[in-house]
Amino acid sequence: MSEQTRLVLATRNAHKLTELRRILADEGLAGITVLGLADVPDFPESPESEATFEGNALIKARDAARASGLPAVADDSGLSVDALNGMPGVLSARWCGRHGDDRANLELVLGQLADVPDERRGAAFVCAAALVMPDGTETVVRGEWPGTIVREPRGTNGFGYDPIFVPEGSTRTSAELAPAEKDAQSHRGRALRALLPYLRKLAG
Ligand code: IMP
Repeated sequence: MSEQTRLVLATRNAHKLTELRRILADEGLAGITVLGLADVPDFPESPESEATFEGNALIKARDAARASGLPAVADDSGLSVDALNGMPGVLSARWCGRHGDDRANLELVLGQLADVPDERRGAAFVCAAALVMPDGTETVVRGEWPGTIVREPRGTNGFGYDPIFVPEGSTRTSAELAPAEKDAQSHRGRALRALLPYLRKLAG
């Protein structure tokens, strides 16, 4: 494996960088150096305008690969609620009409589900992860984390919809899980681990 194998993860989120670095280290791929967007020269980032997680992950990975000349990984994720026909989906971050107001987003989902009985409160966190090589080769994978939506928010860890999501097989919301417990099960971890065979090839 070449010590200089470098990869850019198209994010400014330090937690996502740490998570990918840890997954690679666990797989013995520590020789891949993971850079974030803060480590490469600035470039114009396209809006996430696609209708699917896969499409948006590809937009971000293509931009980063083109601008950096390095293999690039990007992810796009959200909550898919059965009783809302899969929404908020790609609109998860702005479901209440503003970008990134986590509390208002989850309150809106709780209000929308107020009359939905327990047996129809299924949902899943979904994450698409895309790998784009400088030669244009593209790979996209998906990780899903099934569960249900509770009636009252619980827990203070995590972000977004974590306080109202109870993963399958758990009694705690994902905001009540320790960060390492969440990473071991989450949609993002599953998607990033599904990319490992391709990253292994990259490492030679
Ligand atoms: P992003 O793909 O990381 O930008 O996430 C998009 C949106 O999906 C976030 O703003 C959250 O609302 C929601 N989301 C994605 N992953 C999670 C998670 O692990 N927990 C809670 N909410 C999440």
